[in-house]
Amino acid sequence: MKIICIGRNYREHAKELNNPVPEKPVFFMKPDTALLQKNNPFFYPGFSKNVQYETEIIIKINRNGKHIEEKFAHKYYDEIGIGIDFTARDLQAEQKKKGLPWEIAKAFDGAAPVGKFIDKNQFSSLDDIHFSLKINGELRQQGHTADMMFSFDRIIAYVSQFISLKMGDLIFTGTPSGVGPTQINDHYEAFIEGEKLLDFNVK
Ligand code: ZN
Repeated sequence: MKIICIGRNYREHAKELNNPVPEKPVFFMKPDTALLQKNNPFFYPGFSKNVQYETEIIIKINRNGKHIEEKFAHKYYDEIGIGIDFTARDLQAEQKKKGLPWEIAKAFDGAAPVGKFIDKNQFSSLDDIHFSLKINGELRQQGHTADMMFSFDRIIAYVSQFISLKMGDLIFTGTPSGVGPTQINDHYEAFIEGEKLLDFNVK
């Protein structure tokens, strides 16, 4: 499986990092070795002094496809979840300055904690889903899918023009504003509409 991540999908987050608002989705990938499941701990990597959290809704792809039309994209996922796109912001800043790829800052082991998935049909509209992150019991990030520039279906249509999607692939759909640093011993809890789907510690 592979993990595809959308960057700059929420206007306020693009602004907080002084990034231009994109006309097309921006995406990058994380390898399967970045996946952290079953609420296993995240080990703070020694190569960074500024690992930051980005809380994101995840789409789980349920069948293989390529060149998927936006109007059929909804058939390619039944479940959504929540995860953290951990980012070594110091390394990413270096890469951005030099115009180099971001993998060193985004694709490292454990950089993609993923929680439990839930049926998308429990929501009356996928454009009206609230999600949030608490660290050590304190609310740190809140998002609303209505604020996405590119919908789940648009993202699937766009990405599948370039890369075939396969059953089990995950797509991180971008973070709202409010990203920030993490510390060893932080306790993460992430929620979709108040339901806790992810719960892990940083070690
Ligand atoms: Zn992200």
